[in-house]
Amino acid sequence: MVKSAGKTDMKSLTFSELQERLRNLGEPSYRTIQITDWLYKKRVDAIDKMTNLPGSLRSRLAEKFSLGTIDIVRVLGARDTTRKFLFRLTGGSLIESVLIPASPALYGGKADRRTICVSTQVGCAYGCKFCASGLEGFSRNLGANEIVEQLIAVERATGEKIDNIVFMGMGEPLANLENVLRAIRIINANWGLGIGARHITVSTSGLAPQIRKLAEEPLQIRLAISLHGATDEVRNRIMPINRRYNIETLLSACDYYKAHKKQHLTFEYILIADVNDSDEQARLLSHHAKRLSAKVNLIPYNSVPGLPWMRPSEKRQEKFLSILRSQRIPATLRREKGHDIDAACGQLRLQTERELRKDVIAKL
Ligand code: SAH
Ligand code: SF4
Repeated sequence: MVKSAGKTDMKSLTFSELQERLRNLGEPSYRTIQITDWLYKKRVDAIDKMTNLPGSLRSRLAEKFSLGTIDIVRVLGARDTTRKFLFRLTGGSLIESVLIPASPALYGGKADRRTICVSTQVGCAYGCKFCASGLEGFSRNLGANEIVEQLIAVERATGEKIDNIVFMGMGEPLANLENVLRAIRIINANWGLGIGARHITVSTSGLAPQIRKLAEEPLQIRLAISLHGATDEVRNRIMPINRRYNIETLLSACDYYKAHKKQHLTFEYILIADVNDSDEQARLLSHHAKRLSAKVNLIPYNSVPGLPWMRPSEKRQEKFLSILRSQRIPATLRREKGHDIDAACGQLRLQTERELRKDVIAKL
C-alpha cells in the first residue's frame, strides 16, 4: 500500500478495507459506496470534490488519506494506432503504459476491444538480456493506486473506454504480487472499474512459487508465461530467472495452476534470431504447450538500442509458426503493432531518461 506523508492513498484500498477504515471513523457503511462511486465512476481528483459527503467528514478524510493522480508527461503515437503514455509519479520516477487499439483477439478478448498494457514496477530486477526494462535496474514497486491510476489517466486523456488490461509493461507483476492483486480486485469489481476477470492478463517471466500462489486465488484472470526458450540452455542464456526456477520447476508450477483454473495458459515467445528460433526449439515448445494445453503467442523481437539481439527473417518466423501448427498447437504470430514507436516494455522510459540526463548534463 502506498503512503505519502503518512497518508494512505484512497485508490490503494479494496472496498472492505475502505469500509473498515470508515467504520473506525464512526461512519455508516453506505459511505463506502458513496466514496467508491466518486473514485471509480465519477473519478474525482480531490476528496473535497465528493460533494455529497458532509464537509466535516471530507476534512477528516483529507487528514487520513491522500488521493493522488499521475501526470502524463509524454504521448507517442496517434489515435487508432498503438499509443504510448509516459507518466511521472509522485517522487519523480517515470513509468509507461501502452494503449493497443482493436485487433484480432490476442488474449482471448473480442476483436473490437481496446487493451492497455500497464507497468507494475519502476524498472525490473530480473534483468532479462533482451529487455529494456531490466537495463537500468530496479527502483521500486508500484502501489495498487499507481497501477489503477494508469488506466484511469489513459481513459481520461483519450476519452476512450478500455476493455482489456494486460500486465506486460515495465516490471515483474508477480514480484509485486500483493499490490498487483489489490489493483486487480479494484479493476475487476463492480464498485471499481468493472473489467471482467477474463479480460485481465498477468504476464510473468517465471516466478514459480508465486504462480502457485496465484493458482490459489479465486479470481479467474488469465496468466501468460514469458517462456522465450524451450530448453534450460536457451533460457539460461537470456533469462537469469531460469537459474533459480528452471523449466521443469516452472512447468510443474504451471501444471498446478492449470489444475486449479478454468482458463488456458498462454506462452509468450519472443523470436530472437539465432537464439531461440530453431526448428528444434519449435518442436520442444510444442511439447511443453501440449502438456499444458497452452496457446502460444509468437512475438518478433523488437530491437532495443544498445542490445545486440535481432528479430529473425519473416521466413524463419513463419517456419517456426508452421512447426507449432503442424503439432496442432493454437499459435499466433504477432505482427508487432507498435514496432515503429518502440512499443516493447520499458523503451520509452529508457529513451526519455537518457534524454533528460543529456539535458541535465548539458546544463551543468
Ligand atoms: N515481467 C513480465 C511482464 C513484463 S514484460 C514478463 O517478463 O513476462 C512483457 C513481455 O514483453 C514479456 O513477454 C517480455 O519478454 C516482452 N518483451 C520484453 N522486451 C521485449 C522486446 N524488446 N521485444 C519484444 N518483446 C519484449
Ligand atoms: Fe523484467 Fe519481464 Fe523485462 Fe524480464 S522481460 S527484465 S522480467 S520486465
